[in-house]
Amino acid sequence: MAPNDQTSEVTQPALVSNADDRRISTLLITIAMQAEAMPIVKRLDLKKDDGSLFPEGVSWVRYHGTYKNLNVNVIWPGKDANLGVDSVGTISASLVTFASIRALKPDLIINAGTAGGFKVKGANVGDVYLPSDVAFHDRRIPIPVFDLYGVGSRKTFSTPELLKALNLKIGKLSTGDSLDMSPEDDKSIIANDATLKDMEGAAIAYVADLLKVPAIFVKAVTDIVDGDKPTSEEFLQNLAAVTAALGEAVTRVVDFLSGKLLSQL
Ligand code: SAH
Repeated sequence: MAPNDQTSEVTQPALVSNADDRRISTLLITIAMQAEAMPIVKRLDLKKDDGSLFPEGVSWVRYHGTYKNLNVNVIWPGKDANLGVDSVGTISASLVTFASIRALKPDLIINAGTAGGFKVKGANVGDVYLPSDVAFHDRRIPIPVFDLYGVGSRKTFSTPELLKALNLKIGKLSTGDSLDMSPEDDKSIIANDATLKDMEGAAIAYVADLLKVPAIFVKAVTDIVDGDKPTSEEFLQNLAAVTAALGEAVTRVVDFLSGKLLSQL
């Protein structure tokens, strides 16, 4: 049986119900790469913190400030201490998200980043999505119920008004710890009905769900997974232009959030 054949029979957990309403005051924007973060930091005019929020010596980075009456925090896991590259992937994303939620008690999390897109599902380079669902594609545990745990499918916090106001695209996001895609991953991504593929989203949704914080996802497409260009080449080629588009979209999202209740999204 394919890992998520049973998904439709099980009620998926939603990331915090709309009944738990409040005015949005503190925002946590989690990002994987510095190149994705800087356009947002610049647009929102945020300043680097003194590092006291996180355990001493970790590479985690936080920029913060007040923007349109919102306490905005942009965080990312920083560079790997040994290799000097961005600490992408689910482990560092989970850790920094957990620590940031504990320290900042945000009303809402936005996971912003780049993603691969599937052209069979209508994705084009530069498109910006607000995913409706997230799931994993590389956690195969072929034992009843553990299979569903592995897939870890979750609905994102529902934002119909935001979607309408900003005219962003909607689709499902599938997460795994590899930039490339094995044939097994491909099957799981199809089973997840995903339009997008990234390396952090479903992990951040897991942590947000664990600590009962609503989370939304803003993902900009850097590369077409089912196209003819090699993913890593296409990713690097489009990174600058697409992170600029991501910065613009995240700013529009934050503008929309200003002064709103969670129930007005
Ligand atoms: N080669 C890059 C490595 C970045 S990994 C470099 O040299 O800088 C890719 C990052 O972008 C991850 O944080 C992931 O979430 C996102 N991403 C973009 N396209 C992706 C794809 N096709 N599959 C998985 N993740 C992708």
